[in-house]
Amino acid sequence: MNKNIPKQQPPKLTELPESSFKSFRKIAFETGKFYTDFIDVLLKSKNSTEQKEQSQELINSLPIPMKKLYQKGVETLLKEIERNKRIMDKHRGQEKDFLMREFVTNLVISPEGHLPEWFEETYNEHVPNTSNIKEYEYSEPAPGIPILYLKKSIYNSWQGDLRLGQARYVPATNSVSPSFIVAKNDVPYSGIKHEVSHLVFNFLSKNNYFRSSQENESDDKNMEKAFDNFRNEIIAYILQKSFYDGNFVNKYIVTRDSMFLVYDEDAKINKMGTKAKEQLFSCMVFGKSKNIEPESFIYVCLASKNFQEFNRNCVKLIYSNENATTLPTSKEDWLKLVDNFFDKKLCHFNI
Ligand SMILES: [Zn+2]
Repeated sequence: MNKNIPKQQPPKLTELPESSFKSFRKIAFETGKFYTDFIDVLLKSKNSTEQKEQSQELINSLPIPMKKLYQKGVETLLKEIERNKRIMDKHRGQEKDFLMREFVTNLVISPEGHLPEWFEETYNEHVPNTSNIKEYEYSEPAPGIPILYLKKSIYNSWQGDLRLGQARYVPATNSVSPSFIVAKNDVPYSGIKHEVSHLVFNFLSKNNYFRSSQENESDDKNMEKAFDNFRNEIIAYILQKSFYDGNFVNKYIVTRDSMFLVYDEDAKINKMGTKAKEQLFSCMVFGKSKNIEPESFIYVCLASKNFQEFNRNCVKLIYSNENATTLPTSKEDWLKLVDNFFDKKLCHFNI
């Protein structure tokens, strides 16, 4: 066995009350399934009508108590996507140039929305007119979800300290700019799914659809923001299936890095992020052995207000009387569970 194997073990379950675990698990399962299928519907619909029809089919398949809330979520989201499409409609034929400029704007704009004085001149001097350059490609896989693809060499030259990954979600900077995705031209579908997940999360957050992030005793706004970033990333990684292929584990569990999940360098915040992701991973591994799939943890992200609640809800999801008696007691048994968790076909993680 590799020395890099995560050392976490499932948390003690007996501290929690026994009521309502089953319904929590059921809602979590339905939410995970809905969210996953919904992103596919968004990305594969040919037009707005198809987007609406197929979303409605998904809503109809939900248990009755969940329908109303999810209907509202879908309507809110589709409205935002439609608005995004209308912004793009004003720039038809110029999409590449328009998005390139928006991308660079996004990188340099101040939190107050000001562009640096040098922007105009420097931009015109250094960024080419992309209209006729085939290394830049524009795609709108579904109406209202714009993607600017850059050829690998160009994309890599933009990488620098930006840590762009294979793709990056670019949020709108003002009311006339769109939200979109910039990606390397060979990014797999799973990478696009990750970024579309950010688009969905941000559009819904903007409309106060989710249970808002909230600290209990303190009024720590930075911690609240960090928790929102954290759950936004975790949902995206779940949808991308990064847990099964070992990618998430390599990046975040082995290195104990949580800076790029919480987007904050503060030591206290990072400690919370690190603890939460390790708790999540332990519960996911244990849950898998009880047929609770990682997708169910999307509900944990949405239902929790802060890191403490998140940690508790991770355990709540996997808890049952029967589970409590079958927790692995030795490190060896735990490592067996870890081993069984990964999809061997996808996994580059050396166990
Ligand atoms: Zn992300």
